[in-house]
Amino acid sequence: MPLDVSELPLVGGHPALDLVNTLERGGNSPPHDFLSDSSALLSWSVRVGMISDAEADQVDRAWHDEPAAAHAGLTAVRDIREGLHLVLLAAITDAAGDTDAAGDTDADGDTVAAGAALVGLHERWSGAAARARLVLGSSQVRLAYGTVPAMLVPDRTAEAAFDIMLTADLTRVRRCPVPEGGCGWLFLDQSRNGSRRWCRMADCGNVVKARRLTERRRAARSSPS
Ligand SMILES: [Zn+2]
Repeated sequence: MPLDVSELPLVGGHPALDLVNTLERGGNSPPHDFLSDSSALLSWSVRVGMISDAEADQVDRAWHDEPAAAHAGLTAVRDIREGLHLVLLAAITDAAGDTDAAGDTDADGDTVAAGAALVGLHERWSGAAARARLVLGSSQVRLAYGTVPAMLVPDRTAEAAFDIMLTADLTRVRRCPVPEGGCGWLFLDQSRNGSRRWCRMADCGNVVKARRLTERRRAARSSPS
């Protein structure tokens, strides 16, 4: 497992999915949060392309002058991450039509939790939209989020969360299958036929394939010929 947010693989295919993947959930160990503090959050935001280097300098100055704003920013981003995770899990469950990614069959509970999460996400987005600005471009007017440096990171996070919820095909959001040895990260399946199962074949898929091969060989050796 990578130790630092700078080594965290970006497999989501969308910054909002990479955000959800910054919290390592599941397994028997307690969750590990790669967004451990505001500076980890800032460097991650640049890495996923949510903010530019120049914007990161502005945020850094604003957060340095006002530590409470840094704390509030991190709290807001974690809050958006949790809400988005609940909404996406419910969408994945819905698409699968049976059990959800955690093996839970309580679809109603998922729907209620997702509904509550949507209310929270809408509040976060409303705040971000209130701080956004309309910018006249050559072919259209654009809504530019993040005009207040201290709130730039949470506002862009809310923008990314809204973008995936409103514009992506949620039936293409997948979870690297934990029961089969995958890592549980979310990713957007952009394959033509929608058949992608693993976050990255180079890692999870190959590990699982190698394990199955070993098991088959072992079974072949132990079975009476
Ligand atoms: Zn995986």
